[in-house]
Amino acid sequence: HVDLAGRIANLLGAGLKTQVVHAVAGVDLDVMPGEVIGIVGESGCGKSTLGRIVSGILPPTAGEVHYRGKPVRELTGPQRRAYELGVQMIFQDPYASLNPRMRVREIIGEAPVAHGLVRARDKAEYVAGLMRQVGLDASFSQRYPHQFSGGQRQRIGIARALALKPSVIVCDEAVAALDVSIQAQVLNLFEALRAELDLTYLFISHNLSVVSHISDRVAIMYLGRVVELAPTDTVFRHANHPYTQALLKELPTLKPGRRTYLPIKGELPSPLDPPTGCAFHPRCPHAMPRCKTERPLLKEVAPEQLSACHLNDAA
Ligand code: SF4
Ligand code: MG
Repeated sequence: HVDLAGRIANLLGAGLKTQVVHAVAGVDLDVMPGEVIGIVGESGCGKSTLGRIVSGILPPTAGEVHYRGKPVRELTGPQRRAYELGVQMIFQDPYASLNPRMRVREIIGEAPVAHGLVRARDKAEYVAGLMRQVGLDASFSQRYPHQFSGGQRQRIGIARALALKPSVIVCDEAVAALDVSIQAQVLNLFEALRAELDLTYLFISHNLSVVSHISDRVAIMYLGRVVELAPTDTVFRHANHPYTQALLKELPTLKPGRRTYLPIKGELPSPLDPPTGCAFHPRCPHAMPRCKTERPLLKEVAPEQLSACHLNDAA
């Protein structure tokens, strides 16, 4: 029995030659219902673009997005609407994405009323329920965004997304702007909501340790390509790809007062002009001659673990 209900992203990167930025070439990612996929990479690696394509904000440059087993570009009428409401996005900066002149009741309640999910006369009650669900005091619904803290504003953003009864939420650096202690609270909220509402998340972050807290599987992206995809534990215990291994070494040690970083050597090359062959070769400690000319394909290297590196052919 193959359940394609939650297959939201299947982006194949063929024929990108005319694109200005090859932001999401070669991404082929199936997301199952109720799953949390973390997408990790340095800024400029194309992970935000991937999130925007999945949530329909940007059209795919190549390949396509499937939602509940169907290509999104073929969806019309009620199916199109189900996709548009069913996949919601939460951004890094809640303040920038909340209209400063709207009261929280409108910010959260406007869209569900407009889409007929809630009757106008039930809006106040609906908004109050959502505010409580995300840990906000429902009696503050007549306030404006600037009257809330950063963490509370992100909760407003989450309530606004939940108001449309989504099944998939794309979180793009959703906790990056928050203090570390607040980050943990918001991550806990994401966890709780996932269990409560059976949500599927695409959790995009430059921070592997943030992603590892919440994700079942992690996709590591480098210059627009997924270079490794595996269950989170596997990534931490036996990462295969040299770039993933370098990212893990960069994680600060958890002992307080001993934050040691081992930066990956070299700059991130321009995504406008990625290196030939394996795009990681100028920075890779294991690069071989063929790495400069031949692009490694994403292949299974262990059960459930995919990696794109020529070292796997060497033995
Ligand atoms: Fe390094 Fe070559 Fe593997 Fe790329 S393919 S990660 S350059 S060893
Ligand atoms: Mg980004």
